[in-house]
Amino acid sequence: MSLFTASSCARLIVKIGSALLVSPDGEVRRAWLTSVAADIAARHAAGQQVAIVSSGAIALGARRLGLAKGGRANLEDAQAAAAVGQIALAGTWAELLGAEGLTAAQMLVTLGDLEDRRRYLNAAATLDRLLSLGVVPIINENDSVATEEIRFGDNDRLAARVAQAAGASAVVLLSDIDGLYDHNPSLPGANHIGRVDRIDATIEAMADAGSASGMGSGGMVSKIAAARIANAAGAHLAIASGRADHPLSMPSRYTLFAAERGAPARKAWLAGGLTAAGTLHVDAGAARALRSGKSLLAAGVTRVEGRFARGDLVTIDADGATIARGLSEYDAAEATRLMGRRSDDHAALLGYAPRAALVHRDHMALVSGSNQGTVR
Ligand code: GLU
Repeated sequence: MSLFTASSCARLIVKIGSALLVSPDGEVRRAWLTSVAADIAARHAAGQQVAIVSSGAIALGARRLGLAKGGRANLEDAQAAAAVGQIALAGTWAELLGAEGLTAAQMLVTLGDLEDRRRYLNAAATLDRLLSLGVVPIINENDSVATEEIRFGDNDRLAARVAQAAGASAVVLLSDIDGLYDHNPSLPGANHIGRVDRIDATIEAMADAGSASGMGSGGMVSKIAAARIANAAGAHLAIASGRADHPLSMPSRYTLFAAERGAPARKAWLAGGLTAAGTLHVDAGAARALRSGKSLLAAGVTRVEGRFARGDLVTIDADGATIARGLSEYDAAEATRLMGRRSDDHAALLGYAPRAALVHRDHMALVSGSNQGTVR
């Protein structure tokens, strides 16, 4: 699938389902995975940053431990299988990407890491740094510690959340099916849907809850839920078949769930909706920097108002008017200590490794003049 190429998509998230990664006898499908690593290297060479959400830990570990039902008979089995399988999975990725001259990184996350705003900022900053260093993050749910209530359960939604955190413009869900059909595709007369501009009740009704392989946990229902999350975050999402070799470079059929045009919803969400817990007053230089798309540095802050925690929404004011809203990387007491000080001094002031910005541009929305709902 030669969709979402570097020219239109600077950052791409690719989710790979268990059935593609692991053969029915529980081994890694090495030849196929080698072709995927080559595709990723080609995309990298074209200037695209790629992060992989890789399933397969439970399926791989279950085989090694000889567990019934692919390791999914109960939560303890799944967690033990994931702990064993994840090492093998990450090792294989590191080896195959390494052969292409790429560095792999492992990130294991739980639902809370991406839904709690403070932890979300951490995960987002790490992802951003890895991607900008040219590393390929290999991401999976931290299945060994996540309990039923705090699990994503399927990597489809995890991939959509990762796209949101990484500010990616598109997600590909590589699966054993080439997209959405208007009826169950195993029945005759089902038609393939090429493009979905709005996920409504009709689209929801087309999704079939059953997973084709029985190896992963995500069926079409979780893929549609992922599309909703990705589209709301301003990212396109495609469901494509990964059955053939080189699934990221060969043209193939897919269903595209198109994000709305215009300002990403995550910026709209920052610009309105939530109540701000405090205000950072900034000088004219910082205001100019923000308007030109830069992050807010502590050096430009002149006063800190309110009681806010890390990850809370704050307004950024210049000359008594709100110019931006964003998520604060520091709490109010830390921000007060850092204001007016250059980044070089921060480590000494705080006693720990600091974030470069007080409010990162990825987590900030500019608001203009009296119309505070306008997002640039
Ligand atoms: N995290 C699971 C694994 O690595 C896969 C979840 C899914 O099936 O989407 O095995």
